[in-house]
Amino acid sequence: MSSESAPNRIHYTKPSITELETRYAADAAAHGWGERCYEYIERFESQFKQHLGVRHAIATSSGTGALHLGMAGLGISAGDEVILADINWIASAAPIVHLGAKPVLVDVLPDTWCLDPAAVEAAITPRTKAILAVHLYGNLCDMDALSTIAHKYGLYLIEDAAEAVGSIWHGRRAGSIGTFGAFSFHGTKTITTGEGGMFVTKDDGLYQRVLTLSNHGRARSETRQFWPELIGFKYKMSNVQAAIGCAQVERIDELVAGKRRVFEAYRDALAGLPISMNPELPDTTNGYWMPTMVVNEGVPFDREALLSAFKAANIDGRVFFWPLSSLDLFEVASPNAVSKSISLRAINLPSYHDLEDAAIIRVSMAVKATLESDP
Ligand SMILES: *Cc1c(COP(=O)(O)O)cnc(C)c1O
Repeated sequence: MSSESAPNRIHYTKPSITELETRYAADAAAHGWGERCYEYIERFESQFKQHLGVRHAIATSSGTGALHLGMAGLGISAGDEVILADINWIASAAPIVHLGAKPVLVDVLPDTWCLDPAAVEAAITPRTKAILAVHLYGNLCDMDALSTIAHKYGLYLIEDAAEAVGSIWHGRRAGSIGTFGAFSFHGTKTITTGEGGMFVTKDDGLYQRVLTLSNHGRARSETRQFWPELIGFKYKMSNVQAAIGCAQVERIDELVAGKRRVFEAYRDALAGLPISMNPELPDTTNGYWMPTMVVNEGVPFDREALLSAFKAANIDGRVFFWPLSSLDLFEVASPNAVSKSISLRAINLPSYHDLEDAAIIRVSMAVKATLESDP
């Protein structure tokens, strides 16, 4: 293989790990046992709470686990319905199914790619228990409209903020607004612990219930050893992972700034093409987890051709999430035309925090060449 002809690989994401993360992780591995076995976990929860402006946080082994625990804590169960957007990663829908409830998939808005509040309201039935607002790719759901609907019908409003670290809605951070919020620290996310997540809430009662559920049903106030009061879950984060998380939260502004720099560089490089990218509406901040381009409707675009061009240039591009309704796993009542249409016209661009400008230009050239060569 000739090393001259193969340009270095541009990965889709990768974490930003410095000496701080490795020092904390090594310290946790060497000393974080015995009476110190929860030190980094408690510190990580406390720093994350502070960053977000919420009263309670519970570190978990995944974002999926945080969602599952929170929904179980709200009592979501068989016969209930939870409304969420059709365009989503399966992780948002799976906990609903695990609890025996039904995910009700509705359409998204064409500009934010997030829940269409009118579609949400139209899908409400007497069985509806909650609205799951997923802030896709850093873009924010319309939290004002969704809060009004949730209030009007007596529903829980849950935020899946796994992709929305750094996103702010009218002065409030994504994940801190709803009944509870869930975050993911998977290796592809803006801050990472390898695998991991966080449940956050302002609600004291819900926090206590989720704390008990998260500890195999053992209440914190229980004095008897090994005494569960109910069947719970085991979705805990380890101290070594939390140590990495502590370093990442200390660097959170820098990490979000890196994501924003990458997005802005793409926006400039791709200016003039018939596409739209992640919006940033007035009085909001987009954490831009994943710079994504959607080719305008009616413009010829062959997504497979772009993926091939990326492959040839050693660039790791990813398709936009498929509508969950296209997976043969769910029954769907509404046509969700916007979701279906966007998904085929869109692609995620590589976006790790310290992606070099030269790499952004290389990706942009491949995009331009494909869009301009289409018949
Ligand atoms: C990553 C992600 C999750 C799941 O998080 P895990 O940590 O992988 O379990 C859930 N929802 C959304 C929107 C995500 O992007």
